[in-house]
Amino acid sequence: MDAMQRRTFLLGGAAGVSAALFSARTANAAPYPFTLGVASGEPTSAGVVLWTRLAPSPLDTDGFGGMSTAPVTVEWQVAHDRNFTQLAVTGSATAVRASAHTVHVEVGGLQPGREYWYRFRAMGHISQVGRTRTAPAVGTSPAMTMLFASCSHYEAGFFTAYRRMAEEHPDLILHLGDYIYEGGAGSGVRTHQPTAEIADLADYRVRHALYKRDTDLQAAHAEAPWLVVWDDHEVENNYAGLIRANSSPAGDFRARRAAAYQAYYEHMPLRPAQAPVGENMQLYRRVRWGSLATFHMLDTRQYRDDQACGDGTKVCPEADDPTRTLTGAAQEAWLLDGLAQRLGTWDLLGQQVFFAQRLADASGAKSMDAWDGYTANRSRLQQGWVQRGNTGTVVLTGDVHRSWASNLMADYTTQDRVIGTELVATSITSGGDGNAADTGLSSLNPHVKFFRNLRGYVRTVTTPSQMNVDFRALDRVTVRDMPVKTVQSYVIQADNPGLQAP
Ligand code: FE
Ligand code: CA
Repeated sequence: MDAMQRRTFLLGGAAGVSAALFSARTANAAPYPFTLGVASGEPTSAGVVLWTRLAPSPLDTDGFGGMSTAPVTVEWQVAHDRNFTQLAVTGSATAVRASAHTVHVEVGGLQPGREYWYRFRAMGHISQVGRTRTAPAVGTSPAMTMLFASCSHYEAGFFTAYRRMAEEHPDLILHLGDYIYEGGAGSGVRTHQPTAEIADLADYRVRHALYKRDTDLQAAHAEAPWLVVWDDHEVENNYAGLIRANSSPAGDFRARRAAAYQAYYEHMPLRPAQAPVGENMQLYRRVRWGSLATFHMLDTRQYRDDQACGDGTKVCPEADDPTRTLTGAAQEAWLLDGLAQRLGTWDLLGQQVFFAQRLADASGAKSMDAWDGYTANRSRLQQGWVQRGNTGTVVLTGDVHRSWASNLMADYTTQDRVIGTELVATSITSGGDGNAADTGLSSLNPHVKFFRNLRGYVRTVTTPSQMNVDFRALDRVTVRDMPVKTVQSYVIQADNPGLQAP
C-alpha cells in the first residue's frame, strides 16, 4: 500500500451503492475550504438537503471567500453511521462562483424516520461530519423533539444557545428569522464585518460568512436538519415588501432585496426550488413530519402591506382595514388550503412576528409591525382553522427578543374561547443579557400567560396527544459558555387548544 492509498478511505458496503473512494489527498492540498461548516434541512421521509460552502478565506471583501472563478466538484456522502463504514448514498455537485461556491444537494433514496451522517470532500479536504434525520413516514407519528429559535445578533452576545441546542440532539431545529443583522459595526462583545451597514451582494455574503464562522452556530447546524424562514434583518429592519424602512444607505431597494435574498438562499440548507429570481424568492412552504405534524413555514415580509400609521407602537384604526395583508392573498389562500388538508395531528405555523393581540398600554396601542397591524388577515386565518376543525394549531414565533406564551382567542376583546396557542422564542443573543426578574404581565392581555426577558430557545416534545413545551434560557450571553435551564413549562393537548400546566 503506498502513501496515497494509506490516506484513502475505502468506503462502501451499502446495498446498491458501489464502493467509493473518498481520498484525503493531503499532499499539495489547498487551504481548508469548509470554514463555514456543514448544514442540512428540508427533511422529507426519503431525503434531506445538504449544504456547504467552499470559502478558504471567508471574509474576503469581494464576497467570494478566497475562491477563484473556476467551478469546483464537491463530493458528498451520506452514511448510516458516524464513521462512514456503511454508506447510504453518495454523489457529487458542482460549486460555482455565481452562487459563491455554495452547494445545495437534494439527497433522495433514504429511509423514513432515520438518523444519518454526511460529509463533503473538495479541494483535497474532507469536511466536518454532520448529523441529520429524515422525516417519519406518513401514517406514523413517532415522538418529535423540535427546538426553535430566532434573532441571533452577532455583536450582542456569544451563540452559546446554539451550542446548547446542539447538545439536546433534537430531531429538527427551526430558525424563525433575524438569522443575521444588517447593521454596521456597533458596540458589543464582538464586531460586525463588514463594518458598515450591508447593502450589496458582496456585503451580505461576507456578513453571512461572519456568522457562519461561529463554531456554536456550526454545531447546531451539524446536529440536526433545519427549517428556516427570514424576518426583516436578513434584508433591512422593518422593511415591508418593496418598501424600505429608511433611506440609508441610499440606493435601489429592489436591488438590495435581491442581493439579500440571494445571499440568504446561498447560505441556508434550502431547496433549489427556493432559489430567488431577481428580488423575489418563494420561501413559504409546507414540510410534513409523518402524520404527526405539518410545518407551514410562512413569509411575513415579502408580500406585506406597509406598516400602518407609519409603523411603531400606536393606536391606529387603519390596522383593522380588511383589505390590509401581512401574508399576501396567495399565501393566505395557500395556508388555508393546507390547514384544510389536515395532513397531520398538529399544524405548526413557523413564522416571524407576534401573532396574538398584545396591547402595549391602556390606550390600546399595538405594534404595527406585528399581526396587530394586520388584524383582518389574522382573523381570517384563525376563523379558517376553527372552521376546518383544526384543534392542534400552534403558532411558533420569533422577532421580539423575549419569551412569551399565549392562548389565541376567537375574540381578544371579549376573551371569547381559546382556539389555538402561540409560543414565542426569545432571541439567541439580540438585546444582550436579559433580566431574570423582568417577568411582568399586563392585565390588558389576559390571554398572555408567560413573559421572560432572558436569551435562549424553546424545546418541544410532541406526540399525537400532546406537546410538552420548555422555555430554555441562559442567565447571560455576554460571557461564554453559560449553562441553559428551563424557566417555564407547559403542556398543549392536541384536541384542546391552549396552554396548560405540565
Ligand atoms: Fe430580531
Ligand atoms: Ca425582526
